[in-house]
Amino acid sequence: MKAYVWKETGRIEKEIHWSTPEYGSHEVLIAIKSEGICTTDIHMVSGKLDFAKPPWVLGHEMSGVIVKIGDDVKGWKIGDRVVIDPVVSCGSCKYCLTGKKYLCPDGGELGTNYGSGGYGEFVVAKPSNLYRLPAEMSFAEGAMMEPLNCTLGAIDRVRNMVGSHVAVFGAGPAGLLFIQLARAYGAIKVTLLDIKDEPLALGLRLGADEVVNITKVSLQDYFAEQEIEVVVEASGSEAAIGHCFEFVASSGTVVLYGLNGLHTPTITSDMIVGKDLSIVTCTSAPLLWYKGIRLVQAGKVNVKDIITQQVPFDEAEALLEEIMDGKSSATKTVLSY
Ligand SMILES: [Zn+2]
Ligand SMILES: [Zn+2]
Repeated sequence: MKAYVWKETGRIEKEIHWSTPEYGSHEVLIAIKSEGICTTDIHMVSGKLDFAKPPWVLGHEMSGVIVKIGDDVKGWKIGDRVVIDPVVSCGSCKYCLTGKKYLCPDGGELGTNYGSGGYGEFVVAKPSNLYRLPAEMSFAEGAMMEPLNCTLGAIDRVRNMVGSHVAVFGAGPAGLLFIQLARAYGAIKVTLLDIKDEPLALGLRLGADEVVNITKVSLQDYFAEQEIEVVVEASGSEAAIGHCFEFVASSGTVVLYGLNGLHTPTITSDMIVGKDLSIVTCTSAPLLWYKGIRLVQAGKVNVKDIITQQVPFDEAEALLEEIMDGKSSATKTVLSY
């Protein structure tokens, strides 16, 4: 198959004859139709996150069409449009049996540390990792269901969202999902903060009540006038992590979402204790995939407009290089096959 392969050289290179993953009798082979480029991929290639070693076919935000079916697979047919939950697990340990398969010690994630991902033409998956992509949703929207699943899982763990003022640091894809989800979960006011005007303007279009360019205002002054019960860290910035704890109201909740690859502690635990704060996070929410798809289908969450760049698979080599070097200004790039 064709694939963009993360090589030992530290670069992503296009291969024309990379081996197609083999499917077993309980698995299906999926032709990828859309694949989202995630910051996690960039951090892996740059060495910030060491989830896997090259050579590796990355990509965990996938949608596609079933093209081959193992003999023992029931309920699916060739041609079915699917969204792939990339989290692979044993299915029988205490984590798998309590809805937390992402913690399975024998598991992993397709395209991250366990099996070939969506930077290649084909992916193998078990039926238990598949969700039907509704006919009215595009494959590109389907590829957004993985980041939506993770952000939805984090928001779902915030107990005091209804009637709250929610602030979100970071107007990247995750932040743009968080502002919409906060609204869907009953927030009365949603503020989006970033250092760039362009993604903030997109945030306003997607439903933020207020946007703040933190290079232009004093955060101390801004937060002094607000009672913000929930603060979401979706930027991966070390400074923003500190701001979350400093500026959230007492008894509030901080959602830690962005990964930064830092190995030094950045959280003041005394402040958490003193302000009686709650902290939640999420890397995957196996029980919420259907709800995520339905939120998009029902028009409650707009993932389409977060995709600011869609590129045909065959034309993506130079672009992938640019993205991995941190030189892309696109909010979200999706490869289309
Ligand atoms: Zn991702
Ligand atoms: Zn398990």
